Amino acid sequence: MASRGLHHVTAIAGPAQRNLNFYTHVLGLRLVKKTVNFDDPGTYHFYFGNESGAPGTILTFFPWEHVAPGRLGIGETQETVFRVPEGAIGWWLQRFVEKGIAHGTPEKRFGETVLPFRDPDGLRLALAGIAGVENEPAGNTGLPADVAIRGFHSVSLLLAEAAPTGAILTDVLGYAEIAREGSLVRYRAGDTAVGGILDIREAGGFLPARMGGGSVHHVAFRAAGDADQAAMVRRLADNHRLAVTEQRDRNYFRSVYFREPGGVLFEIATDDPGFAVDEPAESLGTALKLPAFLEGHRSRIEKVLPALA
Ligand code: ZN
Repeated sequence: MASRGLHHVTAIAGPAQRNLNFYTHVLGLRLVKKTVNFDDPGTYHFYFGNESGAPGTILTFFPWEHVAPGRLGIGETQETVFRVPEGAIGWWLQRFVEKGIAHGTPEKRFGETVLPFRDPDGLRLALAGIAGVENEPAGNTGLPADVAIRGFHSVSLLLAEAAPTGAILTDVLGYAEIAREGSLVRYRAGDTAVGGILDIREAGGFLPARMGGGSVHHVAFRAAGDADQAAMVRRLADNHRLAVTEQRDRNYFRSVYFREPGGVLFEIATDDPGFAVDEPAESLGTALKLPAFLEGHRSRIEKVLPALA
């Protein structure tokens, strides 16, 4: 079966430099691509991930210097969770205290230890301690290998009800429901280890979300390639009467978008061609990369973008 689960998560941030510093210096992720929002080229688009920017490890941001803060509510992604070695939670708790990072206390969910925290814009994040993860390569993160992040664990969606979205997850996106705990319903994409889990928190009656700084903009799911993506699009149309956008070329993957029944913007993105398509794997993220259709406007774009240290 083709690889399933999360491809990337895209969120909205405030000042670009602050965003960059947090994800690289505090969390030890790699900036694997520095480009612009193809639909708004005066804004950066940062991609953070593991060493190669593999699907299932990529958190991306549109940083707007003066963005208004969002408000979490129904029809939105509630939390984005990374995998760390089981024994690393205490180390991270200490790090968050030392660096003044807003965080909660470790809690148990589905038997796993989870440490919730926030990024500088208030984006809800967490670390899940997973047994055996310390044996997976960590790459060059600047952090000790036995604590470093190993891609996504999951996202949770805050929805009025789980069933309509669950039907899309299970019939189209390769997930199966595997557990329930309180108001949480857990889905898993086959045996995908990195980014294979998605939780729905049912919270009927909660206020609707207002998107802004610290909000997740959309969640992208993996397709192996164009044929696999097209088959998923057909199932959405035939079985769920859901139409997607036309395919958009995002340079590093090709994407279609649709609004799932719970209100969250979903994307289906191809695994190919990946981030090494326009710069060497060793130097990912060091130069500002533009798609061909914007290359002619490079000097103007570089003038508008905030300077980065
Ligand atoms: Zn996306």
